[in-house]
Amino acid sequence: MRNRLIVPAILAFAALSVNAQQLSLDAMIERDIASLLSTYKALHAAPELSRREEKTAAFVAGELRKLGFTVTERIGKYQNTDAVSYGVVAVLKNGPGPTVLMRTELDALPVEEKTGVPYASQVKTKNDAGVEVSVMHACGHDIHMTSFLGTAKLLTELKSRWSGTLIMLGQPAEETGEGANAMLRDNLYTNFPRPDFAISVHDKPELETGKVGYTPGYAMASATSIDIKIKGIGGHGSAPETTKDPIVVAAQIVMALQTIVSRENSPLDPAVVTVGSIHGGTRYNIIPDEVNLQLTVRTYKEDVRKRILASIERIVKGVAATAGIPEDRAPVIKVAEGTGSTFNEPQLIERLASAFRQALGEDNVVKMPPMMASEDFGYFSLDQKIPATIIWLGASDPAKVKAHRETGAALPGLHSALFAPVPEPTLRTGVKATTIAVLELMKK
Ligand SMILES: [Zn+2]
Ligand SMILES: [Zn+2]
Repeated sequence: MRNRLIVPAILAFAALSVNAQQLSLDAMIERDIASLLSTYKALHAAPELSRREEKTAAFVAGELRKLGFTVTERIGKYQNTDAVSYGVVAVLKNGPGPTVLMRTELDALPVEEKTGVPYASQVKTKNDAGVEVSVMHACGHDIHMTSFLGTAKLLTELKSRWSGTLIMLGQPAEETGEGANAMLRDNLYTNFPRPDFAISVHDKPELETGKVGYTPGYAMASATSIDIKIKGIGGHGSAPETTKDPIVVAAQIVMALQTIVSRENSPLDPAVVTVGSIHGGTRYNIIPDEVNLQLTVRTYKEDVRKRILASIERIVKGVAATAGIPEDRAPVIKVAEGTGSTFNEPQLIERLASAFRQALGEDNVVKMPPMMASEDFGYFSLDQKIPATIIWLGASDPAKVKAHRETGAALPGLHSALFAPVPEPTLRTGVKATTIAVLELMKK
């Protein structure tokens, strides 16, 4: 009899204390939301292109310094450019325990905003080629930065509930795939504590605001850019027998490249080979000297990527040789620095997902399929040696997501001039989810 009374009383108390904790986190976010919204709108109205994030980085660094973090600025060394890297590393040591790195991106895109929101960006600047471009946070990195700062604030206030070292990292040049590597090249993990876990958030237009999503395992592909110059021997369009026509060779190469994924690659290893650009020739009756191709290659696994790059080289050189192009005019293939794949360490993301389910409710945590888009966050895992994960953050009006699913109505995606995340609920969920994530990984 006594036992029967005690058990429900304990359960009721446990439920109450969970609610109290939840309430207090929600109450803290409620208290901060007006200030978070004004930070978001200010960041949204002042976007900066990749490698030019000077003011954005200074703002983020200043806010973290005010919160008591030890902040170092201008971390990063780019390859092949003298540009300053505006990486920010903020460290808060709070007793023994794991080191958790949380990343936000700092950069925006050369897109002319057409959302019509009152805080829309009017910013124009000259790009590296000297051409005037508009600038917009069309990938939602302003949402990430604001949520990141909101989380940093809550975690400084909740220091009694966690123990370990927190690293808040502002990464430049995500959109160009250079920033993560630039920071690692600048001895990120020797000059600062090496993390035991790395996490980041990315907004997801296809997911309703108020929800978070997760994708265990490979979530995003590696991306490799390749330039191919096919050198023929030009001449008069009426006398093909005196030439080696690079346009015909290019056409054969484009078709032959399609067999890499369809015939050489295992169907169980997702891969894409896309020829996104082909340029050659000037007019009707001239066979040109050269044709230039630009390709993107996407894979999850590094060995698949290497095999595909070798196949491209073999096919390009083989087709040119078959066409009789002499050795000294063999095609030139340049592989640019790309980005690695994003692997969400399954144990880590499942652990966070169950903490999210408790905090946000079962229906607000959604398992999502992987995609072949890419992102350079994976580099922070040092080739999967450090458990790392991206958390998807729902960003769109639920009614619009529903209409999109049911009728195919337009739902502006990332990098669209019309991409307009719903700020308030998205920021509330972003701050709550990432605060919960850090508390879960560093709880006392
Ligand atoms: Zn982007
Ligand atoms: Zn992005």
